[in-house]
Amino acid sequence: MTLGSFASPGIDSKRRATPLPRPIANMKIFTPDTSIASDVIPSANFGERNKGRVPDMVLLHYTGMPDAQGAIAQLCTAGTDVSAHYIVLEDGRIVQCVPEAKRAWHAGVASWAGEDDINSCSIGIEIVNRGHDWGYPEYPLRQVAAVIALCRGIMLRRNVPSHRVLAHSDVAPSRKKDPGEKFPWHSMANSGVGHWVQPAPIVRSEGLKIGTDNDAVRGLQQALARYGYGVPVTGKYDTVTMEVVTAFQRHFRPAKVDGVADHSTLATLQSLLASLPVETTAVATG
Ligand SMILES: [Zn+2]
Repeated sequence: MTLGSFASPGIDSKRRATPLPRPIANMKIFTPDTSIASDVIPSANFGERNKGRVPDMVLLHYTGMPDAQGAIAQLCTAGTDVSAHYIVLEDGRIVQCVPEAKRAWHAGVASWAGEDDINSCSIGIEIVNRGHDWGYPEYPLRQVAAVIALCRGIMLRRNVPSHRVLAHSDVAPSRKKDPGEKFPWHSMANSGVGHWVQPAPIVRSEGLKIGTDNDAVRGLQQALARYGYGVPVTGKYDTVTMEVVTAFQRHFRPAKVDGVADHSTLATLQSLLASLPVETTAVATG
């Protein structure tokens, strides 16, 4: 048997790259902020950052649409009122649509650490993935690698701390699920992107849930708010609290996303808080 008999065209050699839509004719091409962006497709949808706010957050999304071309068209065409700074395709190509200095429109109604103009303080990355409504496939490794490289560059250029690389669902827990529990935050953290601790093991426990009304719920809400989540401290485990716990689990305890604050969820939250930089805690509680 010769080596040649093992040779067969790899899937990669057959795979055609997704053709990108052409930039809209009257949109001015700009120089990308990073050399790892292979394409620029300028979006018509952006503005100025309010009060010259300098971005110090990276917000990750999935596109949640059946295909990449449709998502790119949606994010770049005038009148849709949505955009993002970057789109990361499944094959790892990075397209820039809005210059980092400008305010892209990706967060919508959102809040984090007391701030609610998230578009002004963040850089938005749309990761091409059909999302929960269309079968929610795994994120391919090469796409994750591209997101890591892109985030690392932004963190360096913009001085973004790890704990401010967040999911859309973190800042808009009542409305959004993206990039969802399949997004490999642990892999990101292994490459220095994002704040992560090993989730505490899931054990049989009662857990706080809808209807619970006591000091333990108040403590949970205070801890979530201290981390940055927009949750009123009422002592009542209401719908908002359940949605925030669900968002927390999608990001930090993805093995079980059920909106119940069990022992594992509470312990994971406590160890995240304990590993925040000291000055952050002071700001968040001040
Ligand atoms: Zn989103």
